[in-house]
Amino acid sequence: MPRIHTPTLIARKRDGEELAEAEIGALVNGFTTGDIPDYQMSAFAMAVFFRGMTPAETAALTRAMIDSGATLHHPHGHPPVVDKHSTGGIGDKVSLVLAPLVAATSCWIPMVSGRGLGITGGTLDKLEAIPGFNVHLSLAQARAQLEAIGAVMMGQTDEFCPADRRLYALRDVTATIPSIPLITASIMAKKLAESLDRLVLDVKYGHGAFMKTKPRAAELAASMRTVGQAMGVEVHCLLNPMDQPLGRAVGNALEVAEALACLDGHGPPDLLDTTLALAAKITRAPRALLLDHITSGRAKQVLEAIVSAQGGRPGDLKRLLAIHRAPVIRAVAAPDTGTVARVRADWIGQAAVELGAGRSRATDTVDPAVGFDRLVKVGEHVHQGQPLCRIHARSTVDFELAAALVAKAVTIQP
Ligand code: URA
Repeated sequence: MPRIHTPTLIARKRDGEELAEAEIGALVNGFTTGDIPDYQMSAFAMAVFFRGMTPAETAALTRAMIDSGATLHHPHGHPPVVDKHSTGGIGDKVSLVLAPLVAATSCWIPMVSGRGLGITGGTLDKLEAIPGFNVHLSLAQARAQLEAIGAVMMGQTDEFCPADRRLYALRDVTATIPSIPLITASIMAKKLAESLDRLVLDVKYGHGAFMKTKPRAAELAASMRTVGQAMGVEVHCLLNPMDQPLGRAVGNALEVAEALACLDGHGPPDLLDTTLALAAKITRAPRALLLDHITSGRAKQVLEAIVSAQGGRPGDLKRLLAIHRAPVIRAVAAPDTGTVARVRADWIGQAAVELGAGRSRATDTVDPAVGFDRLVKVGEHVHQGQPLCRIHARSTVDFELAAALVAKAVTIQP
């Protein structure tokens, strides 16, 4: 590793210079070992946010993040190893349905996810709403579980993508998330370190996504595809709108409950359709077969096996909303009669964070109980006074603040 003078490197990126692969490698290595403190890495991330990175720099950052830890290796003759990752959305609980569904088709899915990022939710925070669920698996545990169940749902650890683990947490609280090279390296480092055969990326665009427009989402998709293909992985990208929340629930335990309903065959159609489209890409299974794994209960059994293998009790899944019950649960009434024209995902996401479902400092803990359910969807008809959603809050003050954001988020056309 070359010796670097970190302030100079930050300044060069700030001024729009292209950095060498070895310089990026040394920076990420120094950050992982603790030699480069969070404040310098935050400044570097902000410089990248404004100046961007060339494809060569993005590939070097991804490589360095993979090399910050160990990678998964699969035994000879293994089944197809596949995964899905979302670029982040509101109410996006697809992973909780998709991972067990994919494992039910006999593919292996070693899913490494993240925590909530900005106003978007994170699979790890949702999984941790299940009492006892351990997302900090060793690679040896992950390997053994893959062989036994075909699915693992875990986070970055000190052993696996530690650089992303730290940078992800920093970006969450330093307004440096919506950067194509930083998102590319963060997602692709985790996915490539899983040693996949096939990957599908759910690239979101719209109010509630980091990419606000479809062309920007296509740019992000192209960046991730380029990095993945250069490393020999078949990468599929689906561009999906994120203007309104996915499903009707937002918040950690509330989303696990909705995912479970989906695996029970009565989830919201948008959640089911998105999940099936993504799962079909990586499993190459027809939609009817995937649906059959849901209606037969097979996918739900896999979820229960994952919960059990990772320290939870499957019986808690159906009791989750009783285990995590917010002190204030109240509906927000529609101010008018008409058709729901808009449910702004960003306002709902912001309200969820303010209720306590997300973080504003890296050390914050999330509250699994808070959030929204029974949220109206665009195109539905409502009568004045009818509920637009239910808010689960820690206090009436929090309820009032969230209700004001709901009023801003939902537009009803007479
Ligand atoms: N998901 C990730 O893992 N990283 C990002 O930067 C955004 C979404």
